[in-house]
Amino acid sequence: MNIGTNLEMVYNRIEKAAAVSGRKKEDIKLVAVTKTIDIEIIKQAAELGMTSIGENRVQEIMNKYPQLEKYPLEWHMIGHLQKNKVKYIVDKVKLIHSVDNIALAEEINRRALQKNIIADILVQINVSGEESKYGLHPDSFYGFLEKAGDFKNVHIRGLMTIAPYTDNPEEVRPVFAELKKIFEYAKDEKITGVDMDYLSMGMTGDFTVAIEEGANIVRIGTGLFGRRKQ
Ligand SMILES: *Cc1c(COP(=O)(O)O)cnc(C)c1O
Repeated sequence: MNIGTNLEMVYNRIEKAAAVSGRKKEDIKLVAVTKTIDIEIIKQAAELGMTSIGENRVQEIMNKYPQLEKYPLEWHMIGHLQKNKVKYIVDKVKLIHSVDNIALAEEINRRALQKNIIADILVQINVSGEESKYGLHPDSFYGFLEKAGDFKNVHIRGLMTIAPYTDNPEEVRPVFAELKKIFEYAKDEKITGVDMDYLSMGMTGDFTVAIEEGANIVRIGTGLFGRRKQ
C-alpha cells in the first residue's frame, strides 16, 4: 500500500466526478478518514499534503491530537457524538459532521460559549430511513434548523449523510440526489444561523457518485489507507 499513489488516484477520481457536475477538484474537500490508523501513517499522509482528517471517536481524537500538533491539520468529527463528550473536542475540531438532535446542538452551543468560540456543525440526515443509522429524519429537520439556528455559538454549515452500504454505488445515487434536494431547499429558506455551504456525502465505495450528485466534502478512509484492522 502506497499512500502517495492512493492519494493521487483518489484526487484523479475526484477531479473526473467534479467535472461531471461542472466543478473542479479544488471545489471538493477531501477528508481523509484516519480512524484506527496509526500515527506514523497519518504523519506520512500529512507530509504528502493531506490537510483534513476525520475521526469517529472522541477518545481517539484525544489520543492522537497531541501527537499531531505540529502538523497543520484540520480535524473533522464524523462519528456519533455523545453529549457528555462534547467538551473534549469542541475546540479541537474544525467541523462536527454528525449532529442529529437538538439536545446535542444545545450542548455544543453551551460548551462553545464557555470557550468563546463558534462551533461549525453539519446536520446528519438519515435520507434512506434505515433503522440502524443515526441521523435526523428529513421530516423533522426543518424544525431542527429553526431551533438550532437560534443558538448563538453554533453555526450550521450544511448537511451530511451516510448512504446504506452497497457494492453498486449506482443503487445509492437517489439517496445523494435526495440530500442535495433537501440542501438546496434549506438554502433557499434562508434561516437565521444557517448557511448551506457544505454537503458531506460519499465514502470509498460511493464518493464519485456522491460528487456527481453535488457533494463538496467526501470522507475517504479505505481508499487511502487500505482496509482497517478493526
Ligand atoms: C469510516 C467512515 C468513513 C470512511 O469509510 P471508508 O469506506 O473507509 O472510506 C466515512 N464516513 C464515516 C462517517 C465513517 O465512519
